[in-house]
Amino acid sequence: MTDKLPTLLFQAGRHKRVAGGHPWAYSNEIQMDAAAKALPKGGLVRLADAGGGVLGIATFNPHTLIAARVLTRDLSVTVDAGFFAERFRAAANLRDRLIGRPYYRLVHAEADGLPALIVDRYGDVLVVQANSAGMDRLLPQILEGLAAVFPGAAVILRNDSAARGLEGVEEEVRVAVGTVDGPLQLEENGATFFADPAGGQKTGWFYDQRDNRAFVANLAKGRSVIDFYSYCGGFGVLAATRGAARTVLVDRSAGALELAGKAAAANGVADRVELRKADAFAELERLAEAGETFEVVICDPPAFVKSKKDLANGTRAYAKLAKLGAQITAPGGILLVASCSHNMPADLFAEQVAKGLKDARRQGRILRFAGAGPDHPVHPLLPESAYLKAEVLALD
Ligand code: SAH
Repeated sequence: MTDKLPTLLFQAGRHKRVAGGHPWAYSNEIQMDAAAKALPKGGLVRLADAGGGVLGIATFNPHTLIAARVLTRDLSVTVDAGFFAERFRAAANLRDRLIGRPYYRLVHAEADGLPALIVDRYGDVLVVQANSAGMDRLLPQILEGLAAVFPGAAVILRNDSAARGLEGVEEEVRVAVGTVDGPLQLEENGATFFADPAGGQKTGWFYDQRDNRAFVANLAKGRSVIDFYSYCGGFGVLAATRGAARTVLVDRSAGALELAGKAAAANGVADRVELRKADAFAELERLAEAGETFEVVICDPPAFVKSKKDLANGTRAYAKLAKLGAQITAPGGILLVASCSHNMPADLFAEQVAKGLKDARRQGRILRFAGAGPDHPVHPLLPESAYLKAEVLALD
């Protein structure tokens, strides 16, 4: 089977990183001759060193900087529904062990041996993002593999990421298997939440903050809490369920706040949760000017550094967010500032939080500096793919 695939050759000596286990080959490492350029976007290839020694089976896109992504180094494998089913089963076994309940990131791309593929699980509903031309082309096999491991599950394709644009594949958001009515219900940290997989952010929910949410919520008992960029309430509503006296959720999206309100009601804490539709910076400034403070302040914004060209502006925005957040944190209070910007290095982010504190003339100590939860594992040779940073401080 494998020998029917076209062979893609590295330039002499350029195969060593991939031979050492790295999952990507860059376009300037490949012999990009007419035959290679003519290969279909996202098709399977046998990836070989310049001498023809085959290293593995990969998807190939002749038009992108990351040209080849290795799926397997076992040449006896056929990349079919059975291949995907096996990887899905392994990923699910690991999550069941880590998380226990069927609400988690099931597949986190390279770290789960499935480059550029994301699958989030909401019980019997799976939300799939194929972020490369290769994974897009393999969607029929992916869907068949999911059906084998999760019989009866509905599958939503949430294929509208920016990465797909770079890969030259179309946006596509649709229910591919089964039916899905209304928002999805999910469980996290023992509480109930709702997510909109079609219209919400990313796949509908950010499972990556699970442990950071629990950490902060456990410090909120009996306290006042404000959760900026609350989205569907993952931080703020959880804090209310752990006994926060009063929680204000701030978001500019009415749809997100509606789902947060639904979660507050489902958890029996609606009377202690206030939904405030506002721009986060405007509301922070208003509260700072009014001298109003909260005992727990949560700032988990969308990515301020979406691409490298945003770095200078985004860096300033994180410092400003930390400053305003610190200004409205009561003495002895807790402040969380997070960044999900892949392009914002962790040390630079920590510097901005420190600068924000200094600008607010506040002092404190870092209690926790963490990334995503363990259902978002990291490939050991792609440490830079760990995008999430969440810093929690106790202020004086
Ligand atoms: N903290 C959330 C995730 C945030 S996602 C969680 O734990 O799940 C980003 C959220 O920020 C979205 O809900 C979006 O509506 C909101 N948002 C983006 N820009 C905003 C702004 N300027 N003011 C207020 N909310 C904003």
